[in-house]
Amino acid sequence: MFKKMVAIVPMVLLLVGCSSSKKEDISYMEAATLWMQNAAEVRALTYQAFNAAKLSLDSELRKRHKKPLGIVLDIDETVLDNSPYQAKNILEGRTYNDENWSEWIDEKRARPLAGAVEFLNYAESKGVDIFYISNRKVKSFEATYENMKKVGLPVKKENLFLKTHSNSKDKRRKVVFQTHNIVLLFGDTLADFATEFDEKNSNERNILVDHFRKEFGRKFIVLPNPMYGDWEWALHEYDYSKENKEREQERQKYLYP
Ligand SMILES: [Mg+2]
Repeated sequence: MFKKMVAIVPMVLLLVGCSSSKKEDISYMEAATLWMQNAAEVRALTYQAFNAAKLSLDSELRKRHKKPLGIVLDIDETVLDNSPYQAKNILEGRTYNDENWSEWIDEKRARPLAGAVEFLNYAESKGVDIFYISNRKVKSFEATYENMKKVGLPVKKENLFLKTHSNSKDKRRKVVFQTHNIVLLFGDTLADFATEFDEKNSNERNILVDHFRKEFGRKFIVLPNPMYGDWEWALHEYDYSKENKEREQERQKYLYP
């Protein structure tokens, strides 16, 4: 009897271990998502971003331009709020993957960020062409377009550039730079503004931000996103294959007491 118990106990432990390993401890993400979903400061920051953008745009509209005026925006956490997807991940103990992310996109439930719809409709009313450059995949094109339309964001299919192969937005930006004078770029990740930021480590990113300091709030409009992004992957050398456990240990190295 005792021998049987000895054999069964490790079996049970093994089974428990297997089933719980499917649930990931992503509690470190809680504060960021709580902040995005509840802090009134987030609304204040997004209004601040679009108010600054309007001042800049109005000043550009008073100038003479050789090419038509255009503005370029990222989508996620720049005009659409995906915090419910993050909240669900935390509550269900799952992490981002292509499947659950596509499911969320297909629900077309993302709400616009405060101030985005008003600002973009204002820009459109002034004859400014609005381009969206996003790393959502092309398979999500229709759902993305419909979600944006539904919440009142001005969007034209021909001006919606999703990801075909590269994460870098450089080539897609160059296409719109050819035909338009792009006076504003909007994003929650620095790579939304300039190629220089692509896959740089934290230190390099901070140095580059100092270099571009005059552009923020003028040409580069930054939206807040502590939930995910290059800022986090920069801590892990952009190695997307790293397991949560390994990343947890790496994160500790970036806390400076
Ligand atoms: Mg984004």
